[in-house]
Amino acid sequence: RTGARYGPRQIRTESVLVRPYGMATRAAPFDSFQVADLGDVAVNPYDLSSSIGIIEDFFDHALAHEVKPVSIGGDHTITLPILRALARKHGPLAMVHVDAHADINDEMFGERIAHGTIFRRAIEEGLIDPTKMVQIGLRATGYSAEDFDWSRQQGVRVVEAEECWHRSLAPLMDEVRDLIGPDTPAYLSFDIDGLDPSVAPGTGTPEPGGLTASQGLEVIRGCFGLDLVGCDLVEVSPPYDTTGNTALLAANLIFEMLCSLPGCVRR
Ligand code: MN
Ligand code: MN
Repeated sequence: RTGARYGPRQIRTESVLVRPYGMATRAAPFDSFQVADLGDVAVNPYDLSSSIGIIEDFFDHALAHEVKPVSIGGDHTITLPILRALARKHGPLAMVHVDAHADINDEMFGERIAHGTIFRRAIEEGLIDPTKMVQIGLRATGYSAEDFDWSRQQGVRVVEAEECWHRSLAPLMDEVRDLIGPDTPAYLSFDIDGLDPSVAPGTGTPEPGGLTASQGLEVIRGCFGLDLVGCDLVEVSPPYDTTGNTALLAANLIFEMLCSLPGCVRR
């Protein structure tokens, strides 16, 4: 189901309700960093591979400065060119990936680059260290029963949604911080469909039985202490977001990402 191209616009709109301080964490991202909206990347809507190159160039240019990009999708395809640019700067990255889907298909409709293939490409290209990668919230139906096994075979820690049901994810994130450590450059990629459709219906491929909003917050807050060099929030599709609540939640999750960047002050 299409429409993720309108995600950034709607998330910006709903972000007017986000205030500057995190009450639970006492985090003060706007006192800690210069936070700027770099605007939209002017992709070529007629040509995906051209758009991948345009996104890479945009991030190469931005990363020539001391910036930590927090990016809004768009569909999950955007993560691949972002990771290429980040890995050129930092080397292979640790990865915290929230999603209903593993996104490790070899191809989709014959295409090697699509929103469901990016993490296979990223691991093949050496952009991610799979032994320092965790995938959280995977579930639902697959093309085969082995769909998540390729990740496991690479050494990725796969945390299916069922492992998350009815519990706090804070202990899991303690494990994740131990696994990744404080010094490895790390990336947080948050596909909104990792959350349950009851809290985030506005997305292209909703799957029942997902994470709650508070579990999503726990994952992002649990990344504080990692050497996060970037984050993204992808796959919000406003045409399916009839109340605007998905974009509102996304705006708050992005605020929490700012709060989890290294060096964010707690008041
Ligand atoms: Mn995804
Ligand atoms: Mn997904």
